[in-house]
Formats: sequence, C-alpha cells, structure tokens
Amino acid sequence: ESEDAAEVRPDPVSTADGTDIEVAANVGRPVELEGASAQGADGIGLFRTEFLFLDRESPPDEDEQHEAYVEALDAFPEGRVVVRTLDVGGDKPVPYLDLPEEENPFLGERGIRRSLGPDADLFETQLRALLRAGADGAGDLAVMLPMVTRVEEFEAAREQVEAVAADLEEEGIEYEHPELGVMIETPAAVWLAPELAERAAFLSIGTNDLTQYVEAAARGNEAVADLHDPRHPAVLRAIRQTVEAAEGTDAWVGMCGEMAGDPDLTELLVGLGLDELSMSAVTVPAVKARIEATRTDAARDLAERACAASTTDEVVALLESATETSE
Ligand code: PEP
Ligand code: MG
Repeated sequence: ESEDAAEVRPDPVSTADGTDIEVAANVGRPVELEGASAQGADGIGLFRTEFLFLDRESPPDEDEQHEAYVEALDAFPEGRVVVRTLDVGGDKPVPYLDLPEEENPFLGERGIRRSLGPDADLFETQLRALLRAGADGAGDLAVMLPMVTRVEEFEAAREQVEAVAADLEEEGIEYEHPELGVMIETPAAVWLAPELAERAAFLSIGTNDLTQYVEAAARGNEAVADLHDPRHPAVLRAIRQTVEAAEGTDAWVGMCGEMAGDPDLTELLVGLGLDELSMSAVTVPAVKARIEATRTDAARDLAERACAASTTDEVVALLESATETSE
C-alpha cells in the first residue's frame, strides 16, 4: 500500500501484535475539524487556541471561547479533544496584549509563564470557558499547558482549575473537570518528567520546541536548519527519558510535534513507547497504516539502537535499513 494512497481507517488501530496506539490530529482552526474527522483521526491531540486571540483588537470573551471548544468536542463525540491553553509570546505576537520587546523571545515570557503572570485574567476566562465546554460538548475534554519548566507551574495551574470549578459550582453553572496535562517541550520538563507524570494526567511531547531547546537551534532560523532535526540522538534520548519517567504512573504519554506525523518515523516512535501520536490530519491515514504494519519487538529494537547512535546520520541509516526490511 503506497503512502499517498493510504486508505482512511475510521477506527482506532493497533500494531501487528496488538498494541493500541491512539492517532489524533493537530488542529489550529475550527475549519480543520471536519478534515480531521474525515481522515480518520481518533480525536484531537492538540487544539491550538491562538487563532481565537490573533488578528483582532480585543480578546474573545468566555462565551465565544466556549462555543469554539464545544464545536471541537462535538466533532469527536467518541474521542478525546486536548485543548492547549493560550501559547503566546515568542513567535506568536498579539497586538492588544502589550507583550514585551525581548531580545530572545523563545527564551522569554511565553505560554504558561504569561498565563500565570500578566495574562492571569485571560487564563481564568479561558479555563471557565473550557470547564463549561467539558460539560456541554460531546467528546472528552483534556486541557494541556504549554512551555512548562517547573513543577510549581503545573500546581499553580491545577489550583486555578480548582478555583474556577468552585466558582462555577457556586454560580450554579454546569461544568466538568477535565484531564489536565503538560507539554514536554523544554529540557527542564524532560528532567522533571517523573515529578510531572506523578501529578499530571498526561504528558505530550512537543518536538518542535523540544528540538529547538535541546539543540539550541531556533525554529525557522535557516542558518541552523540542519540542526533542527528531531532524529538527533539527544532528542531521541529526551523522548525515551520522558516515556520511561511515566512508566508505573497513571499518566499516558503522547507526542504532538511535527515529528509524530512523519510515517518514516512511526516504527521508531512506537518502539520508544508512545501511547498517542498527534499530527496534521493529512498524515493520519499513512501513520495508521504504518502502525498496523509495525511489530513492537522490532520497533523496540530499532528505538534502542537509534537512542544508542552517536550521530543523526547513524539514526538516518538505521531508519533507512528498517524501512527496507519491512518492505
Ligand atoms: C511543539 O512545540 O512541538 C508544539 C506542538 O507546539 P507549537 O508547534 O504550537 O509550538
Ligand atoms: Mg510548542
């Protein structure tokens, strides 16, 4: 079966020897929801909420956000929808937010740092809209925090969720407590993965940022584009460390960076032990096909050898020979 022509698999898939892997879609705008479902995604693994806040003069109110989140939940009545709280700063400016001029915005005030600081009011409104949508939408809501580098950030966010739930309770407004998870996209989060996995419902590895921070190579900087490669052994070891940290806890581990959508990396990612892969909708059929063709023992062996490699070139050679043997 050629990749371009991979048929749509509307149901969840498992490896040739029966390991279930959830395949979800990344969505950045509501218009993409229909395509995600048409391509056979099991749910949404990353619903980026920046679209609600960009290209306008003032922030969206609670009702406008609630409507958008319910729409996403209704698109996957049988699935899970992971909504990421606002991730601005860095490469994603917002005109009405008075973002600071920073020399290194990728190392500055972005994601959860703003939500727990200058954008605390916006964070509260977003959480209210989300908890209400959890009760009103069809699918299962999960909420994910971006750019976490400290355990205290997770705990402060969880306290915010609890405070918002208490307010809604008091106001007699229906709400649901979502699963709360963290993105693993900084080296600090990788090293704190044991503590985060003890506390969070899930970890989702954001390889776009993780690669940039592990390799000290900015996303989109042409001059260092060859360094921005998630097949680098250091990135693979960071992924493995994250998965191992969650073993023996109740937390599931997913990946929602671009890497998850490359069918040539599916066997490797299955071998690294990820429970969920989330990607652009167009790549869902090809990745599902690869999962069905994968044997976990061979995949684990590939992952072990890739993590032991000294160079990206060695990893690339291992991946090429694995593809040849399976064809
Ligand atoms: C990532 O960093 O891998 C990620 C999925 O988030 P974004 O690309 O939106 O920063
Ligand atoms: Mg990111």
